[in-house]
Formats: sequence, structure tokens, C-alpha cells
Amino acid sequence: MTKCNEIVQDIVRSMLRAKLVDEVVAFGRGINESDIVPLFITDEKDAEKIVTISYYPCSLAKLVALYGDRNKKIGLVLRPCDARSLVELAKRQQVNLANIYSIGIECYGVVRAGSNSHQVYIFPDTVQMDGETKPLAEDVLAPNCRRCEYMVPTMTDVAVRLLPDGGCLVDANTEKGQAVLEAASIAVTDMPALDLTALKERAARWKEKDFGELKKMAAKDRLHYWLAQWEKCIKCYGCRNACPICYCKECYLEPEKQIVKNEALPPEALFHVGRLLHVGDSCTDCGQCEAACPMGIPVSKLYHMLYEELSPLFDYESGFDLATLPPVSTISDKDLTKTGVTLD
Ligand code: SF4
Ligand code: SF4
Ligand code: SF4
Repeated sequence: MTKCNEIVQDIVRSMLRAKLVDEVVAFGRGINESDIVPLFITDEKDAEKIVTISYYPCSLAKLVALYGDRNKKIGLVLRPCDARSLVELAKRQQVNLANIYSIGIECYGVVRAGSNSHQVYIFPDTVQMDGETKPLAEDVLAPNCRRCEYMVPTMTDVAVRLLPDGGCLVDANTEKGQAVLEAASIAVTDMPALDLTALKERAARWKEKDFGELKKMAAKDRLHYWLAQWEKCIKCYGCRNACPICYCKECYLEPEKQIVKNEALPPEALFHVGRLLHVGDSCTDCGQCEAACPMGIPVSKLYHMLYEELSPLFDYESGFDLATLPPVSTISDKDLTKTGVTLD
């Protein structure tokens, strides 16, 4: 176990002991070492199960929105993309952020779905696997992580930085974060700013690789590219169910709504376009949709690409400022005259 794991566990124990929170949601070990599952922890003894390895099998923000009690105080250990999703869910009144104490883990990537997740820690240039440190090979990373440029959890109450030597630094971003660190008797570290130049270059390189050719295509060719991807779809709803921004209790893509034909496979394009319209302006590039897709459709590439086109157009950055609502809820007649996005 790394020092960082111990510190996160200490923070969780202290939050529960000091009754700052009623329960904590974090990833931890399940039935064995390689079984990583979400835990809802109410007994501080269970904090020892928490892990901080570079594997993120589902959105904890979504789990809290679905199953968390809004009247309870909840601690949440999460990665920056999921912390951004939490902010988006709060804007949509799906979580009560006032009752959430968030502990953000600085993150340079997680392993792609299906990898052996056992004891993997990813750092800016290196990866530790089962105690051995090697140079980071980018193909180990989930596709969305290669495009990620928000590695620092500035939007959480507490920020934790894992260090390659096994240590970690801890800082508070908010008063709630200070209360957490006081409860844990952890001195706030004056965390040195991380030089993100190389990581942002990595993101730009992968965005070019993933989006560049598509952006150069004529609209009809782009459309054909996505229609060909959607041909593989078996309408399993995995992408929708995994997406933290897909929050509707009553989904119009369900068969009984009869908007998308029953029993037709692949589903009509409307199935994907409907979700794009709901989520595209706020996608946090968390990659959960793509990891969930059993047919290997590059789902997060589509949503992230659309988000990247909409974001400058509407001057909207998802997942940071609670007071700024998503374009889909604020769109005006004037906005509808804007051009510059080719959705097809
Ligand atoms: S998208 Fe970014 S924050 Fe999220 S897991 Fe990947 S690297 Fe970490
Ligand atoms: S569309 Fe995919 S990448 Fe975007 S927020 Fe939803 S699950 Fe995450
Ligand atoms: S997860 Fe993949 S196969 Fe399932 S509905 Fe989504 S795109 Fe289709």
C-alpha cells in the first residue's frame, strides 16, 4: 500500500469519526485484490479497503446522484473528470453539493477498460505496475485520458497529489476542505504548481489524432463515419447508463416511449442523436460511455469532439462554475443563429 493510500484512508476515517460526513463513497477492494468496486462506507473500519490505483470503473458522481441520500453528508473520493461531472449534476439538481465533501485525486490517466488494473499507478511520465516502475506507454491509458487536460482537482474540497516515490501532498481548496484536513490533523501542504505543459501537449496530440481526420472530412463523410459506427450498436443502453450527465429519470429513448422503434437493431440514428443533444454541451470526457460499450464504438470520441466544438461557441466550460448553466438550458433565439458547428 502506498503512503497516499494510507493518507486518503486516514482522511476518510477522520471525516467519519468527526461526524463531518455520514458516509463516504470511494473505490475499494471487493472480493479480492483485483476486484475494484464502489464502496459506501459508514464504518471507519472499512476505510482500509479504499484504493487510489489508476483505475476508474464507473462514475461515483452518478452513483451518488442515483443512490445517495441528499439529506445525508457524504464524502466522495473521486478523479477530476468525475468531480466535473459532480458539478454538472449539481447544476441539474441531482446532487446536494452543500452536503458533499469531495476529495479529489490528481490524475494523469487511468488504464483502459479491460486492462489488468491490479496495482497500477499512473504518473506524468511513468507507470508503476505491481511495484515496478516503467516509462509510461500511452497505449495503456484510456482513450479519453489521453485527451484530458484537467488533471488537477481544483473543483474539489480537498486535493491529493500522488507522488512517484509513494508519498503524497494534500491541499484544501475550500473551507470544507480545511475542516476535513483539520479533522484528520493533516497540515495543509503548500502544493507546488504542477508543470502541465507536457500533459497538455499530450492532450493536444491525441485530440489531433482522434479528431483531426474527422474534422477535415466533408459533412456528409463525417455523417457516414458515425452512421457506420452506429451500425454496430446493439442498443444495450450501456453508454446511457454509464454517463454521469445522462440523468433523466424518464428517458425518451426507452422502448415504451416509442420514439425509437422497438426491436430494431441497430437502433435508428435518433437513438444516438437524442443523447448527443442532451449531453454534448456538457460532456466531461470521463470515458465511461466508451468503456461500457460492448461493441467497441468510440462513443466518448464523438461526445468529446462535439463538446470541444460547442464549448468556445457558447463560452461554456463544463464542470467548474456552479453558477454557469449549460447551453442546452439557456439557449436563446440569438444562439440558434450561431454557426460553426457541424453536428453531422
Ligand atoms: S479523463 Fe482526466 S481526470 Fe478523468 S480519469 Fe482520465 S486523466 Fe483522470
Ligand atoms: S458522454 Fe461519455 S465521456 Fe461524456 S460525460 Fe457522458 S460518459 Fe462521460
Ligand atoms: S453502449 Fe455501445 S452498443 Fe450499447 S447502446 Fe451504447 S453505443 Fe450502442
